[in-house]
Amino acid sequence: QAKNEGRNRFKYFSEDLTRAARERIDIEIRLRQAIEQGELRVFFQPQICIDNGAVVGAEALVRWQTASGELIPPLRFIPIAEETGLITSIGNWVLRETCRNGQRWRQTGFPPLRLAVNLSPQQFLHSDISDVVAKVLEETGFPAERLELELTESALMKREKEAIEILHKLHGLGVHLAIDDFGTGYSSLAYLKLFPLDVLKIDKSFIEDIPQHTDDMEITATIIAMAKTLRMRVVAEGVETAEQLAFLKSRQCDLYQGYLTSKPLPVAEFEKFLTDYRPINNHAPLV
Ligand code: C2E
Ligand code: MG
Ligand code: MG
Ligand code: MG
Repeated sequence: QAKNEGRNRFKYFSEDLTRAARERIDIEIRLRQAIEQGELRVFFQPQICIDNGAVVGAEALVRWQTASGELIPPLRFIPIAEETGLITSIGNWVLRETCRNGQRWRQTGFPPLRLAVNLSPQQFLHSDISDVVAKVLEETGFPAERLELELTESALMKREKEAIEILHKLHGLGVHLAIDDFGTGYSSLAYLKLFPLDVLKIDKSFIEDIPQHTDDMEITATIIAMAKTLRMRVVAEGVETAEQLAFLKSRQCDLYQGYLTSKPLPVAEFEKFLTDYRPINNHAPLV
């Protein structure tokens, strides 16, 4: 009987594997077609200056809109794109679209924005990224100092020496460099000092339970203080409540993004947001 159970367990296990593998292959094939057929979209989420409530930037976030109108979130296809190498062409396309729109907004009288683009480890380490960035800036006319590139700890830690070299090249172009999802990996003060980074983005997992979890509040305050010591700009991600914003303000966090102000928006809606926006949250009481 034990033998049978073992066999059954194996059978279910392998059926699961097959299903997962099939879904991956299915997504990979559909993703290749999606790229060819122009089904990818760039959405923009506003970044707000906590001190005065002004919109000072936006993060570009990719979406996959299928022919049937379904919107597939990045976490369902970015990891697969990363493994198959498709991420580099997707990422380069996002970069170009972002700079192209950014330049258009500059020319049509929108307030000056800094636009942030996520770079995957693959794209960052294995694709001559500084040449790609230089070319996109030249072709679109978007100023380097208006572009911010977001890297994750995994991209920086994988090959530390190479990463530092690439970061210096990118810095040489004049773009700003940010560490994304800070606090979820092996971050330490000593290691942050190694990399030429301008911006630290506190992962939203620390923000989401403020003010219920006092531990998260202390960690957040410590990260902000640490970033200030290193003269980095600090951005809080995933801010959803006025209370969270008030706490961040009391700790002198520089910028935030989150559903409190806006979800990531398609281009036309983002433009409407910029036109209609009035700072409303900057007088929230301190907690
Ligand atoms: P990320 O770079 O950390 O982006 C922030 C994520 O938090 C976004 O999820 C955003 O929609 C979400 N978010 C923003 N405000 C809130 C909030 O108030 N509450 C909550 N619960 N979530 C909020 P999204 O757009 O689903 O992207 C997920 C991840 O996919 C990104 O995390 C990034 O790692 C990756 N990604 C997105 N676009 C690109 C891209 O163009 N290239 C690469 N390499 N990765 C990308
Ligand atoms: Mg990001
Ligand atoms: Mg993040
Ligand atoms: Mg938590």
